[in-house]
Amino acid sequence: MLKIGSHVSMNGDKMFEGSVEEALSYEATAFMIYTGAPQNTRRKAIDKMRIEEGKALMKEKGIDPQDVVVHAPYIMNLANPDPEKQKFAVEFLTEEVKRSAAMGVSQIVLHPGAHVKQGSEAAIKRIVEGLDKVFDNTKNLNTLIALETMSGKGTEVGRSFEEIKAIIDGVEHDERLSVCFDTCHVHDAGYDIVNDFEGVINEFDRIVGLDRISVLHINDSKNPLGASKDRHENLGFGYIGFETLNTIIHHEKFTHIPKILETPYLPKTDEDKKRIYAPYKEEIAMIRAQKFDPNLKENIRNKHQQ
Ligand code: FE
Ligand code: FE
Ligand code: ZN
Repeated sequence: MLKIGSHVSMNGDKMFEGSVEEALSYEATAFMIYTGAPQNTRRKAIDKMRIEEGKALMKEKGIDPQDVVVHAPYIMNLANPDPEKQKFAVEFLTEEVKRSAAMGVSQIVLHPGAHVKQGSEAAIKRIVEGLDKVFDNTKNLNTLIALETMSGKGTEVGRSFEEIKAIIDGVEHDERLSVCFDTCHVHDAGYDIVNDFEGVINEFDRIVGLDRISVLHINDSKNPLGASKDRHENLGFGYIGFETLNTIIHHEKFTHIPKILETPYLPKTDEDKKRIYAPYKEEIAMIRAQKFDPNLKENIRNKHQQ
C-alpha cells in the first residue's frame, strides 16, 4: 500500500479526530499535523485533543499510527542564542514529544534551527544541547525527532547533508533522531534531484545513511535549483516536475515510510492572493495514477465553483 497523505489541520472542537477525517476526505493513507497553529506555541491540553476518537477512526479506516507525523511549529529555534528562548524551545519540544506519544505518533518533524548571527557551527552546538535535554526529559518514550533537510533561506541550519550529520553525531541518544527529506528544500539547497536523483541519494547515504530517512515531504518548487528560497509549488507545476517527484514517491527504497504533501492551497483565480482550495485529494489521485494532469488546478477550481 502506498503511504501517501498531506498536512492536515487540527483545530476547533474536533481536534485530532477532525484531522483524521480531513485525511480520509483526501483518500490519504498517511498524514501530518501541527498540534496547534504552526506559527505559534499555544496548545490545548492533551485531554481536550479528542485523541481516543481519532485513534478509533484510524483503526476503523486502516490508517497506521506509524504513518502519522507531527510537525513542530516552525517558529521554534533550538539554536536561539538567548538562553531564555532556548529554554522555552526545549520545554515546548518536550511537551510536543509527550503529546505525540499520547497520539501514538512515532515521529516529530523539526526544522533544526536558524543560526541568526552566530554561524552554523555554534548553532549546531546549541541544537545538540537542546536535543540532548529533550531526550533526557522524555527518557521513557521512544518518539523520534526527524530533522528536516532545509533550503538554506535566511540563516537556516540543515541545508547540507553534512550539517544534518553533524547534529546526529553530536546527540547522545542519536537512536531517537531520524531525517525528514523535503524534495523542495533539497532542490532549493542545490542538490540536483531532477537530473541525478540516484546521485543525490547515494551522497545522502554516504554522509548520513539512507536508513535515517523516516518521512518524505513531497513538494515541487517555484524556484530553480540552488535558489535557497523554499517556496512550494503543486506537483508538476514547478522546477522539479512531476516525473522526478513520481519516481521519488514510488522509489523502492521509500516504500515503508510516509510521504507527505505540503503543496500550496489554490486561490480562486491566478491573480487572487487568498489560497482557499486544498489540492490534496486531486494530487493524491494524480500520484496513484502516476500521470501528470496539466488541468489539475482548473479541475480543483471547477469542483468548488459548481
Ligand atoms: Fe517543515
Ligand atoms: Fe517540509
Ligand atoms: Zn518548506
